[in-house]
Amino acid sequence: MSKSITLTWSERFGQADMGDWAIYIPPTGLVEPDRHLDHPERVARLRRLVAKTGLDQHLDQVVPRAATPAEIEAVHSAEHVARMAAVAEAGWGDAGGGFTPMNADSYDLALLSAGSVLTCTERVLSGETDRAYALARRSGHHASRDTGYGFCIFNSVCVAAAAAKRAGIERIAIVDIDAHHGNGTEAIFYDDPGVLTISLHEDRMFPAETGAAEDRGGAGAVGSNLNIPLASGTGDGGYLFAIDELVVPALDRFEPELVFVVAGVDAAMYAPLSNLALTAGGYAATAERLVAVAERHAEGRVVFEQEGGYSLVYSPFCWLKLIEVLAEAPRSEDPFAPFLADGGFNEFAPHQRALVERLVKENQE
Ligand SMILES: [Zn+2]
Repeated sequence: MSKSITLTWSERFGQADMGDWAIYIPPTGLVEPDRHLDHPERVARLRRLVAKTGLDQHLDQVVPRAATPAEIEAVHSAEHVARMAAVAEAGWGDAGGGFTPMNADSYDLALLSAGSVLTCTERVLSGETDRAYALARRSGHHASRDTGYGFCIFNSVCVAAAAAKRAGIERIAIVDIDAHHGNGTEAIFYDDPGVLTISLHEDRMFPAETGAAEDRGGAGAVGSNLNIPLASGTGDGGYLFAIDELVVPALDRFEPELVFVVAGVDAAMYAPLSNLALTAGGYAATAERLVAVAERHAEGRVVFEQEGGYSLVYSPFCWLKLIEVLAEAPRSEDPFAPFLADGGFNEFAPHQRALVERLVKENQE
């Protein structure tokens, strides 16, 4: 029997525009204007690709509801929520850290992004759908209790995990495959042994000061946080080795009742903000393994939440693979595969073994 899959999508995700920047700094002097990296086209192109490939025939497309401030305050301080509302009301400002710009749309967009994950989670928990993919914009995993950071305003996956806990789910896994460390997610659940947070990310990339393998959870929750800091240029082979040797065994030991995947695809080739060099095929293989974990332990309950991915040409093909795996739909062609197939970076290299074997040993202690 085929699975029913929910895909949330609001036209607002593909419209809200941050205007001209140069990557993430304002164009001035010698720096010519380009588009801010969090550009609406990056998600609009995925939505069009879902239609163009016929994948939408396999999906229940649902307009998400917005999260309420009270739902956000389950993981963020009331002061942070009020400040974000005030910045949007003023029409312009920063969510935290100095390069997380907000305009008048941003607060509502962040509520809608968190609502997108909530909508998916509610449908999965009620049995209305088997699996779900939350299309969202803004991202959330860098946002911690009292501040936004790194393009993130509210931590959507944490808001949804808190809602799942209120609904009676006791063991939740959050697997963050975004190229950057899920520092906000780690911080919010660091002392909670009921939430296993796993982050695969480029070593000392962003935030540079977080994401160390030694950070394994707070007192009473040691082992409930797993950081896997990967070397630049890791590629599919090294990445899947870490998934198979570290991530899947940790999930199998934890036996989650619900699995969230923070689905940034900014670890892919052509990514402007990382150097991990994954391919769309690598993302498909990763998704297959994580969906299988949900089938083994969580009655199949899995919610993917879209986050980073800033290559307008390649990110949509990587996200498409994740949705195809969820939907068990025919796989589309990766038009870039012929150019990437012979890349040596895709092969597992012996030097990548040392890090993973060290972490496997540490996680058994
Ligand atoms: Zn990222």
